[in-house]
Amino acid sequence: MSTGTLYTVSAPSGAGKTSLVKALIEADTQVTVSVSHTTRPMRPGEIEGINYHFVDRDEFVAMLGQSAFLEHAQVFDNFYGTSRAWVEETLASGRDVILEIDWQGAEQVRRLMPETVGIFILPPSQQALLERLTGRGQDDQAVIDKRMAQAIDEMSHYVETDYLIINDDFTTALNELRAIMVAERQRLACQQELHGALLQSLLRKQ
Ligand code: 5GP
Repeated sequence: MSTGTLYTVSAPSGAGKTSLVKALIEADTQVTVSVSHTTRPMRPGEIEGINYHFVDRDEFVAMLGQSAFLEHAQVFDNFYGTSRAWVEETLASGRDVILEIDWQGAEQVRRLMPETVGIFILPPSQQALLERLTGRGQDDQAVIDKRMAQAIDEMSHYVETDYLIINDDFTTALNELRAIMVAERQRLACQQELHGALLQSLLRKQ
């Protein structure tokens, strides 16, 4: 059995990353998304174990001490981390894994596992991003202003990725995301792992 491919998907808050990844994994059983640990308070509608594993700072620090995270970062005022064991086990089982993480996390993962495929999602304009941030209706103006500044900072890291998607039209962006996965699975090394016996048999002299 071949090992899965690790993807990082980064984007500023409000670029539609979570919706795109959700739609992708609903239709593709070979890929799954990692559920991060965070110290951020739960937002309305979020579910423990589905959106995040919500932990307090002490628990997060204890996990850090046990090297439980493949990567971790402080984003806004909260800590986020990816479970090392879960990612390693899932990749070993042959499934592809998506990490929805910020640029700091993507950088750490790329350093640790250079074969990781980086994907960056950007909004079609600053105005569209602002409308999406405001449209959530869950945060006050000061929070929105802070998030906009953080979003611009996050976006400045798009140059560090392998693939770039501009999420103007959702269906187009989803197709582009799918196309990246399809192309990565057709890579020679991946196909050699998958079809080793066939490739050998095709070259057998008659
Ligand atoms: P939010 O709190 O809005 O769900 O996420 C804030 C930011 O933290 C987003 O950019 C998101 O991608 C990032 N994030 C979520 N989980 C992780 C993680 O495990 N590691 C890192 N480095 N960033 C994460």
